[in-house]
Amino acid sequence: MPFRDRYTGLVNRYRDHLPVNDDTRIIGLGEGNTPLIRLKNIPRTLGKDVDIYVKYEGLNPTGSFKDRGMTMAVTHAVDEGSNAVICASTGNTSASAAAYAARAGITAFVLIPEGKIAMGKLAQAMMYGAVIMQIRGNFDQGMELVKQVAETAPVTIVNSVNPYRLQGQKTAAFEIIEELGRAPDYHCLPVGNAGNITAHWIGYSECAATSGKEVTRACNFCSGQCRFAGAVTGSRPVMVGYQASGSAPFLRGGPVEDPDTVATAIRIGNPQSWQQAWTVQEESGGWFDELEDSEILQAQKLLSEKEGIFCEPASAASIGGAMRDIRNGRIPEGSTVVCTLTGNGLKDPDTAIDQCRDARMVTIDAELTSVKKAILDEM
Ligand SMILES: *Cc1c(COP(=O)(O)O)cnc(C)c1O
Repeated sequence: MPFRDRYTGLVNRYRDHLPVNDDTRIIGLGEGNTPLIRLKNIPRTLGKDVDIYVKYEGLNPTGSFKDRGMTMAVTHAVDEGSNAVICASTGNTSASAAAYAARAGITAFVLIPEGKIAMGKLAQAMMYGAVIMQIRGNFDQGMELVKQVAETAPVTIVNSVNPYRLQGQKTAAFEIIEELGRAPDYHCLPVGNAGNITAHWIGYSECAATSGKEVTRACNFCSGQCRFAGAVTGSRPVMVGYQASGSAPFLRGGPVEDPDTVATAIRIGNPQSWQQAWTVQEESGGWFDELEDSEILQAQKLLSEKEGIFCEPASAASIGGAMRDIRNGRIPEGSTVVCTLTGNGLKDPDTAIDQCRDARMVTIDAELTSVKKAILDEM
């Protein structure tokens, strides 16, 4: 590939579809352009004729989809002259905000719930040099505090209430459409604050609006060759959101007081994009459903074991929920389904190791005969 076409991140890639202009200084780390992997073994075990793809967002620079939104949010904050960003976080937003703030040379303040954040995410926020405030409370309380403090303090909120976050995140839908040549029939996501499901709907809707029309210059990267221009059918997927039973406000019809789940990334009782998500549900003809923690962990393990894809617990809610809805026919045979794997499994090694007590692991002497014996025993 010629040097000028080198991939430098989603803002450059989709410049014409994003709120930037030619001389905006972009704060980027090569985010986006994540693999859309077609599952081979899980569909067979379901005994149903469906095409399941996973969008592996865990391969973003800080290991979650939050980077898509953060490159836009921090780019805009810096463009406006801001010297600091702030967020409440269940972990991944803090990791991402910290990284992009470091890249921009500004300060990141992050509020996290004490003791309820996965180890990898905490390590990231520390390494990137964020100012970390562990609160004796949960995400929802942190979010309220952040909104209040940002009213007067000179800091920019980079939670998904910041509209630039959703603008960046919508590009995941663009990538999927470009790769499939059309929108999928169903798109399944884990839902916490519901920013991501909202962002995907924005992305799909923008593509549907441009398809069929003459698009002369869809993006800088491909100078008019953009596949939005031709291949897109104009259809949008049915959007399906899955929550953990212990923190499922969309299933309860209102805020949940004390949200709890092993999937800490979606341990949220008072979603910030509540109304937008209901609109997505209605416009797309989709639904919300819930999974027990045990089902979430089972799906996480299955995806690792059967497909070689390690996502974090929250992410597995999408594939676990999709598998159930394929089995029961709510997602019909013949469908193309995309599940977003929101974050990398390495984020939360403790939860992974906890559920692998039966891992195939033996301790042996450092001797050839012992190794040979172990191989024979395990064949
Ligand atoms: C943030 C996050 C979610 C939830 O996304 P929302 O936009 O808050 O609904 C799900 N999974 C992971 C890994 C996350 O980091």
